[in-house]
Amino acid sequence: MKKERASRILLAARTRRAIARTHAIRCVFLVMLGLSTSVYAEHVWHVVILPGADPTQPAAQQQIQAIRDSIASAAPDGAEFYTDSLDDLRFDDAELMPSFLALMKRKYEQKQVDVVIGLADFALDFTKRYHDEIWPGVPVVISSVAPARQKDIPAEFAYVPVDFDLDGTLALAETLQPNARHLVVVSGVAPLDLRFAQRGADAARARKSRQWAVDVWSGLTVPELQQRLAALDRDTAVLYTTMYRDRTGRTFFPYEVVAPMAKASNAPIYGWYPTYMGHGLAAGSMAGFETNGQLTGALAASILLGKVPPQSATVAASASRCVADVGVIDKLGLRADALPEGCELIDVPPSLWREYRDIVLIALAVVLLQALTIAGLLWQRRRRRIAEDEATLRLDELARAARFASAGELSASIAHEVGQPLGAILSNADAAGMMLQNEPDIDELHSILGDIRRDALRANQVVQRLRALLQKHPLKMDMLDLNSAFEEALTLLGLEARRRRIVIESNPAAENSRVQGDRVQLQQVLLNLAINAMDAMEDTPPADRILSISTRAVGQGYELTVADRGHGIPAGIGERLFDSLYTTKPNGMGLGLSIVRTIVMTHGGRVSAASRYGGGSVFTVWLPSAAEHASSHAREARPGFDNPTEKATLKARPTTQGGHT
Ligand code: ADP
Repeated sequence: MKKERASRILLAARTRRAIARTHAIRCVFLVMLGLSTSVYAEHVWHVVILPGADPTQPAAQQQIQAIRDSIASAAPDGAEFYTDSLDDLRFDDAELMPSFLALMKRKYEQKQVDVVIGLADFALDFTKRYHDEIWPGVPVVISSVAPARQKDIPAEFAYVPVDFDLDGTLALAETLQPNARHLVVVSGVAPLDLRFAQRGADAARARKSRQWAVDVWSGLTVPELQQRLAALDRDTAVLYTTMYRDRTGRTFFPYEVVAPMAKASNAPIYGWYPTYMGHGLAAGSMAGFETNGQLTGALAASILLGKVPPQSATVAASASRCVADVGVIDKLGLRADALPEGCELIDVPPSLWREYRDIVLIALAVVLLQALTIAGLLWQRRRRRIAEDEATLRLDELARAARFASAGELSASIAHEVGQPLGAILSNADAAGMMLQNEPDIDELHSILGDIRRDALRANQVVQRLRALLQKHPLKMDMLDLNSAFEEALTLLGLEARRRRIVIESNPAAENSRVQGDRVQLQQVLLNLAINAMDAMEDTPPADRILSISTRAVGQGYELTVADRGHGIPAGIGERLFDSLYTTKPNGMGLGLSIVRTIVMTHGGRVSAASRYGGGSVFTVWLPSAAEHASSHAREARPGFDNPTEKATLKARPTTQGGHT
C-alpha cells in the first residue's frame, strides 16, 4: 500500500516536473531572446490513442474525434495525435501481439509522448502490461471499459467510465410493448459480443417490472438471423448487443447488421449504441460516446496542464439518453406517444406542425389576432347597442317629460275644449230635467240626449288624445301614415291656436306618406315645432299670425315644414338652437328642439331651421319613406358594411339641423 502510494506520488511529481520544465524552458527562451513568440520553443502535446477496435467504426470515430477536439482546444501549443489499433475484436490478438508490441516500441522509441489514452478492454490490457516498456512515466487515461472491469485498472491510471444503460433500454421495450414477454438477445461470437450477450440476458432476467423469457442468439449468420427474426411475432422484443464476428468467422462493424435485421424482423429491435439509430433500431437508452470523448479529452488535458494528478483520477460517466425512431415504431404498429417525455425522436413523419411550424405559428397568431379583433368589435357593438338602448330609454323618458310640458302649455286650451262640452252637457241636462217636470216632449228629449252624447264624445276624444300623448310607452317603430299622425296632433294644436288667435294653414300635400316610425314621437316633433312657432308669434300682429304646416314628398322621403311669422331666429345662433338647455324664453327648458332632433335622427331623418323670407322662421324635417328606411337598414346589415364605427358615423353625420339658409 505504502509502496503504491509512494510510486503514485513519484509519478505525479514526475509529470508535474516535466510540465514545469517545459514552461521554464519556454520562459527562459523568451527572456533570453526577447523576441516574438514565433521563436520560442513550443511544447506540442503528443497524444497516443489506442482504440483497440477499428477506429473507423462510427461509435469509435465519434469518441476519438471528441477526444481530439477536447485536447486540441486545451493545448497551449497544439497537439499531435497518433492512433494505433490492433483491431482485437476481429483479429487474433494473442498471435499478433508480439509483432504489435514490437511495432509500438519501435514507433515510440524516439518520440516524446505526453499522454496515452486507451479505449476498451484491449487498450486496458495492453497499457497495463506494456506501457512502462513503451511509454515509461507517461500518464494513461482509460475509457470505454465496463464498470465490472474497473478493479483491473492500475491505480496510477486515470479512468473515464462509460455507461451502457441496458436497464433503461429494456425499460423502453417494456413501455413500447406492454404485452411482450419474450426477449431475444442477439450477438456475435467475438469475446466482447458474448460478454454483452450475457449482460443483456442477465439484465433482462433481473428485471422486476417484467418477467422476460429470454433467448440468446449468438453468432448466427445474417441470413440465419433474418430467417429467425421473420418468424417472430409482435409480442417479442429483440435486444441487439454487438456482432463483431459471426459463427462462420465473418466480421462486421456491429451497426452494419442492424439494417438487415430490421428489414426481416417482425419484432422491434432495441440497443444502446447511438450509431445503430437510423438503420432500423426502434429505440434505446443510448450511450453518449461523444460526451464520453469530451470527458476523456478534458481529463487528459487537465492532467497535462498539471491541474489533476493522473493517479486514480476519474469523472462521472456520461449519462445515457432515450432515443427512438418514430418511423420504425409506427411501422411496427407501436405507439410512440407511450415513450417517456424528453425522449429524442428521429425520423418523425412529416406533419403540418413539424414541417411548417413557423408558418403555422404565424397563421395561428394572425387567426388569434383576428379572433381578438372580432371579439373586440363584437364587444364594442354590444356596448354600443346597450348604450343605444339606454339612450333610447332616456329619450323615451325625456320625450314623455317634454310631452307633459307641451300638455301643460296646451292645458288652457284643453281645459277650454273639455269645459265647453261639459258646460253644454250640463245645460242640456238641466233643460231635459225641466222638460221632464212639465209635459215631456219625447222628440225634444231625444235631441237633447243626442247633443249630450255628442258633447260627451267630444270631451272624451280630447281626453283620449291627451292620454295617448302622455302615456308611457317604449319606442315602437310601426308602418304609419305621416299625414294621419300629424292630423291627430293638429287637433290638439288647433285648440291652442284658436286660443292664441293663430290661424293654422295646413297643407298635407304628401300623398300616401308611409313612414316607419313611432306615432307618438313623430306627433311630438310637430307639437314641439308648432308650439315654438306659436310662442314666436306672441307679438306678431293678429293679421299675420299664421302658422303654416305642410308635408310633401322630397327624394326618397317626406318633408314636414313648420313656418311662422314670429320674431325669427336670432342671428349667430347656428346649430346651438338644437342644443339641449338652449332657450331664450323666460320659462323655457331648452329641450324642445333637442328632442325634435333626437327623434328625427332616430328615424333616420334630418332637421333644419332657417329664417323665413318676409319675417319669421321655417323649420324643415325630412323623414325617409318606409321603403328607403328598410333598404338603408339592409345596407347597414350587409357584411362589409357592418363596421360599427362607420355605422355610428353615418347615424351621427346627419343633419343640417341648425343651418340658416
Ligand atoms: P324652449 O322652447 O324651451 O326654449 P326649444 O329647444 O324648443 O326650447 O327652443 C330653443 C330656442 O329656440 C327657443 O328658446 C327659441 O329661442 C328658439 N326657437 C325655437 N323655435 C323658434 C321659432 N319658431 N322661431 C324663433 N325662435 C325659435
